[in-house]
Order: sequence, then structure tokens, then C-alpha cells
Amino acid sequence: MRLKKMFLPTLKESPADAEVASHRLMVRAGMIRRVAAGVYSLLPLGLRVVRNVERIVREEMTRAGAQEVTMPFVLPAELWKESGRWEVYGKEMLRFRDRHDREFCLAPTHEEAITDMVRGEVRSYRELPVNLYQIQTKFRDEIRPRFGLMRAREFIMKDAYSFHATEESAEEEYRNMYETYSRIFERCGLEFRAVEAETGPIGGSFSHEFMVLADTGEDAVASCTGCGYAANIERAEIGGRPRGSTRVVTEPGKIEKVSTPGMKSVEEVSGFLKVRPSALIKTLIYTTESGVIAALVRGDCELNESKLKRVLGTATLVLADEETVKQATGAPVGFAGPVGLKIPVYADRGVKDITSGVTGANEADAHLVNVVPGRDFDATYADLRVVREGDPCPRCAAAFEIRRGIEVGHIFKLGTKYSEAMGATFLDEKGVERPLIMGCYGIGIGRTAAAAIEQNHDDYGIIWPAPLSPFHCHMVPVNVNDRETLEVSERLYSELVEQGCEVLYDDRDERAGVKFKDADLIGIPVRITISSRTIAQGSVEVKERSSGEVRLVRIEDVARDIRGLFDKGKN
Ligand code: ATP
Ligand code: MG
Repeated sequence: MRLKKMFLPTLKESPADAEVASHRLMVRAGMIRRVAAGVYSLLPLGLRVVRNVERIVREEMTRAGAQEVTMPFVLPAELWKESGRWEVYGKEMLRFRDRHDREFCLAPTHEEAITDMVRGEVRSYRELPVNLYQIQTKFRDEIRPRFGLMRAREFIMKDAYSFHATEESAEEEYRNMYETYSRIFERCGLEFRAVEAETGPIGGSFSHEFMVLADTGEDAVASCTGCGYAANIERAEIGGRPRGSTRVVTEPGKIEKVSTPGMKSVEEVSGFLKVRPSALIKTLIYTTESGVIAALVRGDCELNESKLKRVLGTATLVLADEETVKQATGAPVGFAGPVGLKIPVYADRGVKDITSGVTGANEADAHLVNVVPGRDFDATYADLRVVREGDPCPRCAAAFEIRRGIEVGHIFKLGTKYSEAMGATFLDEKGVERPLIMGCYGIGIGRTAAAAIEQNHDDYGIIWPAPLSPFHCHMVPVNVNDRETLEVSERLYSELVEQGCEVLYDDRDERAGVKFKDADLIGIPVRITISSRTIAQGSVEVKERSSGEVRLVRIEDVARDIRGLFDKGKN
């Protein structure tokens, strides 16, 4: 592609609303333009990258035995009423009425649509399993769209849905998709982790998220440095005895009440009483559907609400309001403690290790010291805290490492939630009618492209992993007004294009500095620089974007050399 003819508007300035590198760089490199909050147009360069992600996804889904379909972006309310999600989906679903006053929505996901497509068509176990996918637009009216394509409102998703006669078959396909997703992100050239995840409102029995590791990720991933077990920190279990627990060797004294006027937070109390935060027992009061409870965690740790929810078997868990706290503890917020408390008390295992602790006294402006778990209060103990760097892995006891991640893919074993609600059944071997067992598997296409940039960029611009790069190489004649330079450039361009190389050819009459800046910004892995200086030696310069390494390559060898480079990126 000749740059002179290409619609490639690059910018020097970053857009004001861009908080992360991928958003800034995608706008500056002329890949995307904002149309409304969370709604973007893809320009030619951006679309080329998206198509690369889609190509890899298609190839791997086909290899895995899935078949491509397309379902409508506009879906009728009736389908969602059948599954019961019309009422519960909330404001992320954009709803509207047509001219006949019928209700519709812009599809935020397609479980209902696919279940509708399959029911009535699949009748027997003999027609199962089947895995159908699409690469299609979704709309979710995100409360805070941000980060460009990463958290958009309109975005492209690959979503696949599988249908099975047996649990074993559903689990086998889950593993198949797990491996397929691993191959997809590997082929995209990304550093990622497949992590155990919470199933959340979609439900289902188990699920994994695929996280591209990047410092700007919204999620945190705990991965074991020993066995490779990895989980979203919302979920990561902690093995054995947590490290760094405070063991006091001397006999604990008698419980004592001390005055702590206005001291509520862990920092305030530990500073005021001159004790380490790890000796504090933080008491949080929660409201659940079956009443009010207290949850304890060591002062230097953070309570994990997902874990607490699981232990309680509750769907609702919200921090109690001031009034409820006062009723339950008799004290204002900030002075709750487990001693003498009349509500059920749940405690993180780490609390048990405290041999002489500090807690709120359930009385304004007072705390208790020398508190001993077991002696002074009882609790139900469980793993309730957020994992930290260095905590032991539950499988092998090696240390966890915590990294930030961007969720690019998510696989779920769904079970029969949708098929039961929507009457999608089949006849099993004995002729008995049963609900189809389902799995669903999503990949954010635009988010994957953005995540690739988050993981691979520097101060000058993007550094594309070769498989996602919009072009194989970027050719820069230093001065198009030099006859010889232009001649060699044109010849090389034709040669490269002829052998199937995708070349971005900067044929503009611009200063070399401007062209080099744009090349760094756009981030194609190899740059070929043609100048009279090297032509004199029969060569051109080949520069690698990632390492900055420059080689002189003889003009007649360039086509072969570049070919070798981009063949490496294929698989
Ligand atoms: P998140 O937790 O980030 O909101 P989600 O759990 O709602 O995502 P899924 O329903 O699992 O997302 O959707 C499958 C995939 O679609 C996600 O793994 C992600 O890659 C992508 N995706 C979800 N929401 C967005 C969005 N607002 N913008 C871009 N991609 C998205
Ligand atoms: Mg998800």
C-alpha cells in the first residue's frame, strides 16, 4: 500500500480522554476514531489489525471443529423474556421499540438467540455435539466506557456456543476450547495466562479467563511460580499457613479496653496504639439475604468478598449501612469487634494466628487489646482474604506472583440454564427427552488488539507482534526526490508485493524525520530504509522495531530476507 494514497491520518497529540497507551496510540496511529462514548470507527489500519485477530480466531475455531454462523445484532424481547434475562440484565442492555411498538434490544450476548436457533432443529443425541460461533458486533451500555476498544460500548466479539448430550461431552469440549484459546493467544504473539475465574451472573459450573499480562490491566492474576496454577485474585485460594503472621511468644495478658478517640481505620489505630497492622483484627459488618453477619480479617490483609459469598452461599453481600452497624454492634462504624457480638462471625484463617490482637470494643472511641481468638470469641474460619504476592499456592505451596491482566477471553461450562428455561431438548439413547447441556466461549476481538498494544509499546509508539501487524514491513525512502532512491524503492516495492509481502510504502515527499516518527508510531516490526548513502554500497537498511537493531542487506537479497521474517510469524 502506498502511504500517499492511504487513509492513514496520524496525530502528534494524544486525545484528551485517553488514559492508557493502547487508546492513545490507536488514535494517534490513525487506527480508530471516536464517534460517541465507547463507539468507534475502525480506519483502514485499525481494520487490518482486527482482521488479523479474526483470521487467527477463525482458523483455530475451524481447526477445533466449530462452525461459523451469524445471528442478528437486533434481538426481540420475547427471547429474553423466555430466559428471564429481560428483567435481570439491567442497564447494560440497550432496549428500544420498533414502529409497531414491539420491544427489542441490541444484543449484549447471544445465549438466547443461539438456543432459539438450535431448539427444534437438533432432535436426537446423534446430532450432538455441535459448536457454533460467530464474529459479530455486541452492544453493552457500559457504565464507564473507557480505554478505547478495550472497554467500549459497541465492540466485536467472537462468541461460540456448544450443545451436548452428556456432561462428559460438554467437559471435553470445554477442554478443547481451553486448548484452542491457548493456541489463539499464542499465535497472536501475546504473553497470557489462563486463569480460574468466578462464573458471575452468566452462571455455570466452572470457567476460565484468558488474561493478557500488562501493567494497565483492570484485573489481577495470581500465578504460582512453582506449578503454574493461576487464578483471578477474586478467586485464588491460599494454601497452608499464610506467611508473615505475627506470633507472639509471651503469654497474652488479660483483655483490656483502651480509649481510641476518633481512631477508626487500621492505620489510625495501629499508629495510635503503636502495634503492627498485622495484630489488628478488622471487623466488617455485612448484610446478606439471610441476615447480618460479621467478617474478620487481619489488619494487613484485605477481605475477598467473592470468597465470603461462596462460604456463606449467598448471592447478596453488601457492606452494612451505619444504622445496621449500630444495631448489630451498638457502636458507630469503625469500632466493631467480635468480642460479645451477637451475630454470626466468619473469620479468615490468618486471624487464628493472632495471639494477642486489637479489635474494636463495640463502643464509640474504644478498642480492646490482648484479644485472643478462641479464648475471647468464636468464629467460623475459612480462607476469606485476597491473595498477596508471596502467599503459598494451594496445590504446591510455592509462592504466588501477582501480575495485572486484561481479560481477552472467557470460557464457561454453562449447563442447562438456558436450555431448560427455553425448552431446548433432545432425545437421549433411551428416547428420554432431556435439556441440552451447553458451554459458551467468548473472545473480545478489539480488546485483544488493544491488549497487544498495552503489552508491546514504548515511548515512540506501538511494537506489533508480527502476527497482528497491519503490514509485514514498512518501507521508507529517505528522499523521494532523489532519482536513484526512488528507482530502487519502486523496484523493491514491486518485488516484495509480487511475492505476497504486505508493504506499507511511505512514498510521501516528507522529511525523513517525519517518516521515521510515523513508522515508530505505527509499529510495523520491520522498517526498510532506502537512501543514496547505502545504495552506494548496494544495500538498504533493515531495522527491527522491537530491538532497534539495524542491518545492512544487499538490495537483491531484501525480498528473500523479508520473506523469511514474515514466514516466521506464520503458523
Ligand atoms: P468484563 O469483566 O471485562 O466486563 P465480561 O466478563 O463482561 O468482561 P464476557 O461476557 O465474558 O465479558 O465477554 C467475553 C469477552 O468479550 C471478554 O472476555 C472481553 O474480551 C470482551 N468484552 C467484554 N466486554 C467488553 C467491552 N465493553 N469492550 C470490549 N470487549 C469486551
Ligand atoms: Mg468475563
